[in-house]
Amino acid sequence: MQEKIKLMGDQSTIEKVQPVSGGDINQAYYVQTANHQYFVKTNQDVPADFFQIEADGLDRIRNTETIAVPAVYHVDHDAADQEMTLIMEWIDGRPTKQTGNWLGEQLAAMHTTDVGTQYGLDQRTYVGALTQNNHWYDNWVDYYRDKRLRPQMDLAITNGRMTGIRQARLEQLLVNLERFIPAKPRVSLLHGDLWGGNWLTGAHGQPYLIDPSVLYGDHLFEIAFTELFSGFPAHFYQSYQTSFPLEDYYEDVKPLYQLFYLLVHLNLFGEAYGSSVDRLLAHYSV
Ligand code: ADP
Repeated sequence: MQEKIKLMGDQSTIEKVQPVSGGDINQAYYVQTANHQYFVKTNQDVPADFFQIEADGLDRIRNTETIAVPAVYHVDHDAADQEMTLIMEWIDGRPTKQTGNWLGEQLAAMHTTDVGTQYGLDQRTYVGALTQNNHWYDNWVDYYRDKRLRPQMDLAITNGRMTGIRQARLEQLLVNLERFIPAKPRVSLLHGDLWGGNWLTGAHGQPYLIDPSVLYGDHLFEIAFTELFSGFPAHFYQSYQTSFPLEDYYEDVKPLYQLFYLLVHLNLFGEAYGSSVDRLLAHYSV
């Protein structure tokens, strides 16, 4: 670690290393030198490009100059022991009255940045530890069905978590998906995994996005996931809507956009998410 930090241009010695809890994939540490504080993640059990893909996603968000993300100082993969290391800016701060407003305003600014006309992405990403294959599409509903819902359905079938009426209803829903999901919504850069644990507060109450799984698509897909679990204050939604109002069909598509994340949770964490999936599928099969 000391050598990696020296290579980054920080010649001071490490004074403190403390494990950081909260993540479920990587080992995470707070590292302090005389000059600087760092957030360091390591992992030996994920594909070799895992941290590079994370850094690429952070770059795409940073390049919109709309919302803060931690600076990435160093990414490597040690072929000898397979260990990967990601060294980033340490983010630390307390929310102020403005934090939720800024998060809403700045996320809306990211979502309204002009980013071309195609949906999807030209490289794979990861959702949790699951691989998310991507491709460019001219049509959002095709991307959402073929690269999002269907692969999660297939994985659940392989894992024995998708059988009988659950499988029949989901297959039927995929056939009818274009009735519910817009074909050509505005194209937005999306964080792609925006639950309450993937934004942090930095100095002066500034919100930061972390751990992205980026794609280009319908902003309602992102907002629907923020509502699936808690973690976003009411004024986040108010300020978001002031800058980028949600389309009036939002409530109709919300469950179908949450379905992707529920299937991911079914695949990652098991049958605890099965009843939510079933309720949703029952609703759309009538
Ligand atoms: P994982 O990728 O394993 O899910 P995370 O990287 O999301 O783990 O984070 C593990 C913990 O570290 C979480 O509590 C998160 O809030 C915190 N964290 C993530 N990034 C930073 C950062 N740049 N600075 C400070 N804390 C961070």
